Order: sequence, then C-alpha cells, then structure tokens
Amino acid sequence: MKNISSADFFSNPSKISPRVTFHEGSCLEKSPIAAIVRSDEGTLVVITYETPFHPRDYQWPDQPEDRGHIEDKGGSAHELSDVVFVGVSPDGNFYVDRSIPVKKNSPEWSYFVGHVIKEEANLSLEEYVTLRVDARYRHEISRAHSASHLMGPALNKALAGLWRKEPGKQDALGTNDFDQLAIESSAITELLCTDTYHIGKSLRKKGFSVEPLYSNLRLYEDKINDTITRWKNAGASVRIRAEGDCLASRRYWCSTLDGKQVEIPCGGTHVRELSEIGEIHAALEMPDSETLIIRTSVR
Ligand SMILES: [Zn+2]
Repeated sequence: MKNISSADFFSNPSKISPRVTFHEGSCLEKSPIAAIVRSDEGTLVVITYETPFHPRDYQWPDQPEDRGHIEDKGGSAHELSDVVFVGVSPDGNFYVDRSIPVKKNSPEWSYFVGHVIKEEANLSLEEYVTLRVDARYRHEISRAHSASHLMGPALNKALAGLWRKEPGKQDALGTNDFDQLAIESSAITELLCTDTYHIGKSLRKKGFSVEPLYSNLRLYEDKINDTITRWKNAGASVRIRAEGDCLASRRYWCSTLDGKQVEIPCGGTHVRELSEIGEIHAALEMPDSETLIIRTSVR
C-alpha cells in the first residue's frame, strides 16, 4: 500500500470520522476527498468525508457492494470496480476488505468506506467529488434484503412447534430463533436472497426436531409465505435506527410485525415501506436432512 496524499489521515485517522448515508436511503453525496491510497494491485482506493456508498461487509458479506461512480471536479466519471471496508490500525497501517485482521469495532481501529477505481484517475486530496450510486440496482438489492428480514421471523414462527425445549435465543417477536441459530450464509442479489441453514448436532442438542420439517417441507413453505404476505400487506414503514454516522456504528432495521415493534441488527439498505417490496415468495429446499436452503425472491 502506498499512501499518496493523506499524511494527516494516517497519522491520526480517529480524528476523521467520515459520515455514511446509505442507511438513510441516499444515493448521492458531494464531498471532499480525505485520502487516496494505491493498493498493491495498482488500483486507487479513495476515501471521502461523506459517502452514500454501501460497502461489502468484510465479516458477513450478505449484501453486496453498491455500484456507481465518482465524478471529479472536471466532470469526468470514474466507475467503481469495488466498494470495500478499509480498516486503519492504531499505528496507521491500512487494510482492505478481508485482509483486515481484527473484528469490527476493535478498540482504537478506524473504519472507512474504500471506493476502488481501476483506471488511472486524476484526483487530488480535498478535491470536491460527486459520489453517485446506481439507484435502480440499490433499490432491487434493498427490496430483496427487506424481504429476507420478513422471511427470518416468519421461518421462526413456522418452526416454533419443532423445539422440544427453549434453545436460549429468541428473535425480536420472542420466538425461538432458528434463523440466527442455524444460519450458515446469506447472499443477496438483485430481487433474490439465498439463505443456507445447517441443522447439525448442536442444533438437535438444543432441542430442534428436523424430521417433521424434512418430511413436510411444502407445509412449512406455505406457512412461511402466508405469514410473509400478511406482514407485507399490513404495509408498515421501515426505518433504520443508527447509533452514529460512522461506517462501524451499530444500525438496526425497525418495523412493525403483528402490531409489535421489532428491531433487527442490520448493516444493509432497505425499502421505506414494506409495500414497496412487491410480491415475495420463499422457496424451501432440503438437499439432505442437515441442510435447508431458502430462496426468497421478489417481483
Ligand atoms: Zn439485514
């Protein structure tokens, strides 16, 4: 990594706390550049004081990075080839995406949105640039992400009768949290969220009976879809509650399900009303008795 033009930034990164606005639904900001770094691969990593770009999380990359570009002061557009987490260590070292060696919110570490540009770009420190997110793509990703936040609690509700005892973890509605206890990976693409669950020994030990699910998959699929449709048709609003403006600040998805206020920790982007999601359908598949794959699609 070569620090091109940002001495202050690296000597005291904690003094600079860039603001993110993606969780407020923003797709456009104008901001001066705070740092430009050339990566080992030769790309430029640009950090601004304010950004609407949602980066791919380096620990739980369920929602992909936004697409879009940065416009320089001359009006030239520079396409972003990636949008990533940047971590700066207490001694001023710079790490990108999965090379960040510590967990999020580690003491004295600072976290920023890194806008990656592949081509040569004539950008300079403190120059005002326009950051423009592809709003159509963001909206389709947000619809799929919001749909998955309905699928999770609907899945827990459908499977509530399959627990022989309390597993010690409840969701926002007070239902045993199969979703969080069994989730292995979650991948959001345009209009689709694919969640993969592992129903292994430890989940069975916690009291979960997989057999009724495995032999009546369609029945559970119908239950889940009925709940999702009911919640979506109630048309509650969605809000992101943020504990701060920084990238690493904790954020929560807040809405109303069955008349109850629910809050689910989430670093992604969402629609503002459940009715905006469109039609949702969750399709269940169990390739074997230990694996459950749910594809939640919207249209
Ligand atoms: Zn989420």
